[in-house]
Amino acid sequence: MQRLYISVCLIAILVGSGCDPKKQPGATAGDKIRVVTMIGMITDVVKNVGGPRVEVTGMVEPGVDPHFYNPTPKDVQRLGSAHIIFYNGLYLEAKMGDILAKMSEDTPTVAVTDAVDRSLLLKSAEYDGLYDPHLWFDVKLWMQTVEKVRDALSEYDADNTALYRSNAERYLTKLMELNEYVKSQVERVPSQQRVLVTAHDCFNYFGEAYGFEVRGLQGISTASEVSIADVQELATFIAERRISAMFVESSVSSRSLEAVKAAVKSKGFDVRIGGVLFTDAMGNEGTPEGTYIGMIRYNIDTIVHALIEKSGL
Ligand SMILES: [Zn+2]
Repeated sequence: MQRLYISVCLIAILVGSGCDPKKQPGATAGDKIRVVTMIGMITDVVKNVGGPRVEVTGMVEPGVDPHFYNPTPKDVQRLGSAHIIFYNGLYLEAKMGDILAKMSEDTPTVAVTDAVDRSLLLKSAEYDGLYDPHLWFDVKLWMQTVEKVRDALSEYDADNTALYRSNAERYLTKLMELNEYVKSQVERVPSQQRVLVTAHDCFNYFGEAYGFEVRGLQGISTASEVSIADVQELATFIAERRISAMFVESSVSSRSLEAVKAAVKSKGFDVRIGGVLFTDAMGNEGTPEGTYIGMIRYNIDTIVHALIEKSGL
C-alpha cells in the first residue's frame, strides 16, 4: 500500500498543535501511561513489563515491513500524544528517522537497542558503519531490551518501579526458557543441515547464536532490488549443498523465492518452501504468533520440522 509521505514541516505542525500537559516528565498516579511503539516485538515487551499501567499502541501492524514504513497522519498524531515512544533503532525504522528525532525534543523517545553493548552487535554487510538491526532473533540479546524498557518506564513513573521490576523479572524468566527451547530444537537438526535460506538476510543473529548458516536472497534491508544474478547465485548454493527447504517471510513478498525455486529446478534439484516465518513482523493479535514468544517458537518449530523431513517427499 502506498503510504503518504509526511514532511518534517507537517510533522512539526501536527505535533505542535497537540501540546499535551500530561507529557511533562513524571506520571500522574492512576493515569495510564500512553506508549507508542514501532514493531510488534517491542509492543510485546512493553505490555509484559508495563502491565496494566500502560496503554500501548504499536504502529507497524502484523505483516507490514518496518524497513519501508512511513508514518501516516494518524501515526503522527499518536506519536504526538504519547508519553513515551519506544523504537528498535539501528536504522530498522529507516524512514522514521526525522519524525523520531523531532519527537525526542519533548517526549522520551527510546531506542530499545541502545543499551546493548556494541561488541555484541553484528555489523551490516551492506552498509558501512551500521549494525544489523534484527537482534530479536537472538533471544538472549533481545532480553537486554526488556531491561531497557523496564528502566525507561521506571524513570518516567518512579512510583511503580517495583511493579516494572517484578514484571520484567517474570518475563525474563520466560525468555530464558524460550532460549533453552530454541537450543534444544536446533539440536534435532543434523549439523550439516543447519542452513537457513530466506527472502532477506534477517537471521544473522539467529545463525550466530544457535549455530546456523544463514543465506538471504536480499540483504539485511528489503529496500534493495533482487537481481537475476542474486537468484542464480542462491540457486547454485542450494543445489550444490542439497538444501531441502527454504522459507518465505510473512512481511516480504514470496515472489522472488518462487524464482529461486524454479532456478534450482533447472539445475536438476528440488527445494521446497518449508513454510512461512515471522521475521520483521509478528502474527495477528490474539494468535500464538502474535506474541514474541509464540513467534520465536513457531519459527523454530517450522524450521526444524521442514529441515528434518526427507527432501522431495
Ligand atoms: Zn528486516
